Amino acid sequence: MGLKIYNSLTNKIEEFKPINEKKVNMYVCGPTVYNYVHIGNARPVIFFDMVKRYLEFSGYEVKYASNITDVDDKIINKAIAEGKTEKEIATFYEKAFDAATALVGSKKPDYTPHATDYIPDMIDFINELIEKGFAYNVDGDVFFRESKIADYGILSNQQREELESGARIEVDSKKESPHDFALWKKTETGIKWDSPFGAGRPGWHTECVVMNHKLFGTQIDIHGGGMDLKFPHHENEIAQFNALYHTHLANYWIHVGRLDLEGVKMSKSLGNVVYVKDLGTKENGMIIRMLILFSPYRANISYSEDLFNQYKTLYEKYVRAYKQSLYELQYRDALSSKVCEEDINSFKEFMDDDFNVQNVLSLLDNIVKQMNVALRSKDYDALATKLNTFKTIMDVLGVNLFVELMNDEQLECYRNWQEARANKDFEKADIYRGKLIEWKII
Ligand SMILES: [Zn+2]
Repeated sequence: MGLKIYNSLTNKIEEFKPINEKKVNMYVCGPTVYNYVHIGNARPVIFFDMVKRYLEFSGYEVKYASNITDVDDKIINKAIAEGKTEKEIATFYEKAFDAATALVGSKKPDYTPHATDYIPDMIDFINELIEKGFAYNVDGDVFFRESKIADYGILSNQQREELESGARIEVDSKKESPHDFALWKKTETGIKWDSPFGAGRPGWHTECVVMNHKLFGTQIDIHGGGMDLKFPHHENEIAQFNALYHTHLANYWIHVGRLDLEGVKMSKSLGNVVYVKDLGTKENGMIIRMLILFSPYRANISYSEDLFNQYKTLYEKYVRAYKQSLYELQYRDALSSKVCEEDINSFKEFMDDDFNVQNVLSLLDNIVKQMNVALRSKDYDALATKLNTFKTIMDVLGVNLFVELMNDEQLECYRNWQEARANKDFEKADIYRGKLIEWKII
């Protein structure tokens, strides 16, 4: 038994076998920093953070990279509109992205390469493609020659004929074929770099491939991103990597579904956007994290206030059960570090099954039920074990309940409250109870 993952490259559930037995290299396409991130953008940020946590829990050493696209038409346009430099725009929104990442409980990846730090490497890479006949320069614009890649379309499962008839493909008279894509864009406005092809900037598809190659040097284990990046972005990453290094860049391609607002794609122009920064509290960040993690990752999520409230109720139920159990155990000095092996094995079994979160959710619900039963029946040994098990699983998912042990003053008060109750001194008990409520202990 081991982890099985749905591989978008083969459209099959496959056994996960990293290139180096216990080490995993993972790259996930990161944000273009020109705007605040919405909860749809946060979906891969949350999901792949969980994947990393789970791989580590399973004994792998993970190197996780997610890039920052800090040069792009959108950034250039925003800079012009606001009378700022591209760097100012990118730095500002990268900070906002970091804050959003933290709010939804994701750690910063091990590497966050910035496209603008790799421009000379990108120029070298494009040069090599030109030299080997995979790219051509037309008056300062460099395009990839898609016809040179025999299995182009492998990821998005598109035959060349389908691609031909794709009406979405813009006609660019400079290109030899409509599917050829830009590696280097000649630019007159905005930030630009000198190159042997002329002044301009790299194309997005090239940025990711070059950063991948510079960071990891070779074929990686997992390449991830949102479903909408499959084509053309990931297809074009594969084509370029294949041209020079003769592999498909990653052995496992993982794509997460979209998060729409009541079935409609979030967009600023439609005004139906929920920004992470507007979630307000750290608890709301965790509720969004749960909502995203507990939805099957390959399917789209139709977000609504109702759905948010369902997860809010669930989160509050978890916090309540956890708090009650933790404080009762602390008061009785009955905390332990034991876990229920059977539950942990079930958790692994479900997660290994291509991250079957629906089953994990049922498992957690069961554990919470058992915690409540143990609390009522005063079986503190069982309660301590279940509590640890629950916490272990929540930590792997990265869901923080923000519940700390009581400090000395609070513990003293809790003790007095319990004693007063035992002595049926309800007047006194009420005073202590009031304090405990104020501290959000009960
Ligand atoms: Zn990318």
